[in-house]
Amino acid sequence: MTLSKEKDPMGKAIADFWRNGKAGRLRVFSPMFEEDEIPVSYLYRTVEEMSPMEQEALRMAQGKTLDVGAGAGCHALALQEQGIDVTAIDISPLSVEVMQARGVQNACLVNFYSLDTQFDTILMLMNGIGIVGTLQGMSRFFQLLDSILAPGGQVIFDSSDIKYVFENEDGTIEFPDSESYYGELTYRMQYKNILGNPFPWLYIDAATLAAQAKQYGYTVEIIVQGQHYDYLARIAKSCVMA
Ligand code: SAH
Repeated sequence: MTLSKEKDPMGKAIADFWRNGKAGRLRVFSPMFEEDEIPVSYLYRTVEEMSPMEQEALRMAQGKTLDVGAGAGCHALALQEQGIDVTAIDISPLSVEVMQARGVQNACLVNFYSLDTQFDTILMLMNGIGIVGTLQGMSRFFQLLDSILAPGGQVIFDSSDIKYVFENEDGTIEFPDSESYYGELTYRMQYKNILGNPFPWLYIDAATLAAQAKQYGYTVEIIVQGQHYDYLARIAKSCVMA
């Protein structure tokens, strides 16, 4: 599944910014939070403007590389500059058009879950592992890695432990819904009069992810611990002892 142009608020914002050098407000709604905004210029950040964590992710890319949910293509363009063979994919048709116009050589309108070719490095940045959606989605995710991660390959991603959001002033934690994992959110975006469909988005703490990964024969290694409960990590196939 990919998005239609009529239901692609982020793609429209990216396209407006590309055409006019500015864009309106890209609004983000989630039932549990106050309305938020993604500054559209942030999606066009240069390598110098990226966080040390993202810069480290770019340094770690090697071999045939996939940028998942590449957006305006900031990481794909940087990798291309480094001489890395990179393929950028996104479900947003408008974003893919912008990436092509910006010079991303392999920018494809493809859903991650319909891929069937192998990569040595799979990058999922800006909390890119969020597209797993829910903890239940982990099984589909790791099964896909079994087929698209080349032998010795790696997934480099960032996420956050959003537990702090539920912390009271006295340090106790109160989760809104004990039925589901606290990092399972639903988002909806709006740009001008374009309202996208709601979609599930997962924030996952490193320990929970490591436990999930283990079940499917993968390991998680923390590469950088960020300033604000965020982290950069690498997923790889567990070594099988002879
Ligand atoms: N990585 C970019 C953009 C992040 S926004 C950056 O760091 O600036 C997340 C992007 O993921 C959006 O462009 C969205 O369209 C895309 N996306 C969401 N689900 C996807 C899927 N299943 N397959 C491919 N791309 C997806």
